[in-house]
Amino acid sequence: MKLDVNVLRYLSKDDFRVLTAVEMGMRNHELVPSELIHRIASLKHGGTYKVLKNLLKYKLLHHDSSKYDGFRLTYLGYDFLAIKTMVKRGVFVSIGRQIGVGKESDIFEVATEDGTLLAVKLHRLGRVSFRAVKAKRDYLKHRRSYNWLYLSRLAALKEFAFMKALQEHGFPVPDAVDCNRHCVVMSLVQGYPLVQVRQLQNPEVVFETIIGLIVRLAEHGLIHCDFNEFNLMIDDDEKVTMIDFPQMVSISHRNAQMYFDRDVECVFKFFRKRFDLTFEEHTVDADGTEADTDESGRICFSSITKDAGFLDKELAASGFTRKDQEDIQQFIEGGIEEDASDSDEGTEDDISISGTNEEIVEGVDSLHLLDQEQPTLDCAKADKLEDRQQCEA
Ligand code: ADP
Ligand code: MG
Repeated sequence: MKLDVNVLRYLSKDDFRVLTAVEMGMRNHELVPSELIHRIASLKHGGTYKVLKNLLKYKLLHHDSSKYDGFRLTYLGYDFLAIKTMVKRGVFVSIGRQIGVGKESDIFEVATEDGTLLAVKLHRLGRVSFRAVKAKRDYLKHRRSYNWLYLSRLAALKEFAFMKALQEHGFPVPDAVDCNRHCVVMSLVQGYPLVQVRQLQNPEVVFETIIGLIVRLAEHGLIHCDFNEFNLMIDDDEKVTMIDFPQMVSISHRNAQMYFDRDVECVFKFFRKRFDLTFEEHTVDADGTEADTDESGRICFSSITKDAGFLDKELAASGFTRKDQEDIQQFIEGGIEEDASDSDEGTEDDISISGTNEEIVEGVDSLHLLDQEQPTLDCAKADKLEDRQQCEA
């Protein structure tokens, strides 16, 4: 998806205030009634309708009048809220090219004030699989708003928490910088996804490092669950970095052994095919010693994990709870259907504009673009809605 950050420059405080009001309304409404938006935003000089029209024009909102007159955020609208918060916090000041399109995410290069490049991952959980399976519907009866907004935010929170914990335990992962809504900011990994690499100086060494990572993860109580050539980055010195953590599970998961074996098999298969490696019936551990194998030479999950530690504590400390884990796991395993009917039942009473809303409404005035092909604009001036309207008139 294209992220046209130019639009950011044209948005006024009122625009952001209304956008935030829609986000708040979406806590209990799949589709937020325009009257409610009006009440939450409570613009000083009125004019919610005009602002809504403007946000629609820039595709930050979606309008639906089939049941009643209502609005919901688009991915782009949600992106803008997260980006604005990050800019306000001083995490980055500009956005550059898109560097990755994952199954369920978009990744962009961003730059900090001092010019350091970082990567920002915008989660889009549900882009592929939202409507896949209805079977899990019963789980959702007691949940109010089980929508992509919530799931994408959970995915980001989980990714951030795991990245941080893994980093603290010396795993080669990007530095976790910050997290807001569905957006994770991390260090930019130099190098390429392994899937793009045709030649290696030392394929055996790289292979052993990678298998060693799977083993060491299990020793820490974790399984990656998507450990493949798309989620391993490799630089010119053949140093490996692993990425992409929203689907990780604990070794106590009922299908842990299957996930573990699948990760291992993926790596074996890739190295066999791409680098013509033939394998002895055993391999080595992360620290260079031989990994535990069973009689047939397979890496033995049960003996690796028998004294495994758990990263649960660190994860909880990062704000990712057990309930969050259960929610996201249900989605990943079952494919949860977007459920509009349930989510419209909520009350409106608990919605109010808090301090954090003000924080969101300020900011982004200083957003620049990295992409030199884009025209340069005086953001401070162009930012004002009034100016733009005058221009149009
Ligand atoms: P998804 O969950 O959608 O698969 P990933 O986290 O795997 O998303 O990222 C998709 C692609 O984006 C990766 O294959 C990689 O090319 C690029 N990418 C992701 N994170 C980084 C990073 N920190 N630095 C550089 N490139 C990255
Ligand atoms: Mg990936």
